Amino acid sequence: MKEDRPWFKYWPPKLPKTLDYPKAPLFNILEVSANRYPDKDAIIYYGTRIKYEKLLSNTLKFSSFLYNELGIKKGDRVAIFMPNSVQWIIAYFGILRANAVVVPINPLIAEDELNYILKDSGSVAVVTLSSQLPKVMKAIQGTEVRNVISGMFRDYLSSSPEIKVHPLMLKEPEIQGDVIKWKESISSNKPLPEVSVTSEDIALIPYTSGTTGFPKGCIHTHSTIWPTVIGSAFWNMVTPSAIGLASLPLFHVTGFVHSLNTPMYVGGTIVLMSIWDREAALDAIEKYKVTHWTNISTMVVDLLSTPGIEKRDLSSLVMVGGGGAAMPEAVAKKLRELTGLDYVEGYGLTETMSQTHVNPPHRPKLQCLGIPHFGVDALVVDASTGEVLPPNKEGEIVVKCPSLFKGYWRKEEETRKSFITINGTEYFRTGDLGYMDDEGYFFIVDRVKRMINRAGFKVWPTKVENKLYQHPAILEACVVSTPDPRVGEEVKAYVVLRPEFRGKVTEEDIIKWSKEHMSAYEYPRVVEFVDSLPKSGSGKILWRVLQDKEKNKSH
Ligand code: AMP
Repeated sequence: MKEDRPWFKYWPPKLPKTLDYPKAPLFNILEVSANRYPDKDAIIYYGTRIKYEKLLSNTLKFSSFLYNELGIKKGDRVAIFMPNSVQWIIAYFGILRANAVVVPINPLIAEDELNYILKDSGSVAVVTLSSQLPKVMKAIQGTEVRNVISGMFRDYLSSSPEIKVHPLMLKEPEIQGDVIKWKESISSNKPLPEVSVTSEDIALIPYTSGTTGFPKGCIHTHSTIWPTVIGSAFWNMVTPSAIGLASLPLFHVTGFVHSLNTPMYVGGTIVLMSIWDREAALDAIEKYKVTHWTNISTMVVDLLSTPGIEKRDLSSLVMVGGGGAAMPEAVAKKLRELTGLDYVEGYGLTETMSQTHVNPPHRPKLQCLGIPHFGVDALVVDASTGEVLPPNKEGEIVVKCPSLFKGYWRKEEETRKSFITINGTEYFRTGDLGYMDDEGYFFIVDRVKRMINRAGFKVWPTKVENKLYQHPAILEACVVSTPDPRVGEEVKAYVVLRPEFRGKVTEEDIIKWSKEHMSAYEYPRVVEFVDSLPKSGSGKILWRVLQDKEKNKSH
């Protein structure tokens, strides 16, 4: 990376421009912290405290079960399909310890998408909660899944003295046929052999949806995950005394890096939440004296609009930040009034294992992606010509960074298309349109890719449209985003009804049907019937025209 990059002038004081990363398996994160701080709380989960030593011993038991009882071997893909929970974390580290590959899946997705991801990843096992079993049992049809593991560590959790168990933990698992290998307590007395793991082995394949409507797996090795985990610890001053509020979903890279791996890497404590609930978050901040909170901006919006928020004690917080979606200016100002803290906004993608850009905490700008992070080079280019654009000119943001994925799983063509060669060097195309100001800070203005960012959950219009076309009354559909004060961008469908259904089917009927047939975060909550959709000469639906119409409504 060139030393003349303008952002270096605004680099946080005393931080080096690049970092060295361990050539070690990620399991070291838990192992080292458990050896250093065996008696310290690793996780506080709705009142239940799990110490590092206990977390490690349970993880080793689980790993031994995978290895010895299920025959999981190096490179096998094991899916985690459940909301944030202690089990999620045990499963994650346990799978890594067996040198298998974690496929973290959004627990909100519909059965057909789950089936697609399990098939595409070639997962051989799924770890889930009993409440998710009915969906999982249907979704594994036609996949390579041989084992479904559910409801683990029930005994251990219910024997905890100060237990206040979250309902997800209480459900009894069901055993259907011989597909589930259920053990009363998942453990194996057989020793777990040392499994050789190199930092170039695949560790994680998180899925991101794509313009075609089909999710793509991003290949991350141990060595592409370390950089953002360690980088985040330095940048945000996450120390062993850190108490992190983990309100982001762990299946997504932002939560995975900032709410799980970084605090555990330093030996801090995670206050884990399964679902977003602002009262529970406020109580946790006050009770456990939370210091670090990485979030999606909509959570801050919600938290700060709590009646009587001025009287709540937020004084323990030293870092509030996040990414995935833009932070409204008014909310950032309110946060500063209430806590004295500037919101540390960042930017990144699943392909880059979270942040490529972050605001310097001592000199942030509002509504800004920040400056390139440790070891990241970023340019704004004209993607059609490959020309590097000067400051303040809009183009596609491209990046080169140590945390960059190794390609899309089994999708060579898609991988090739996501790179561009600039002056002999390959850069990853983010699909985001933006510009860099004179000081080297980056801003996003639009997207090349057709994507809706609903409260940080990414919705892909083509996928929603494909589903809508299955409705018997729908002749044509075009899905765009519409501004919404709560979730930022709401999913909206313009629909042309077949003539015979006009006057018989209502907008509400379509919304209700969509809710039943799509994932909770992606179904259109706004539907507008129109007589026709704008089309090009060749008959292509001009979604941009409708998108611009919605965008202008915000002004
Ligand atoms: P994902 O792969 O789910 O993490 O989504 C990555 C996409 O989220 C990026 O390509 C952006 O479009 C969007 N994104 C990430 N951070 C920000 C941010 N700070 N402001 C606006 N959009 C963002």
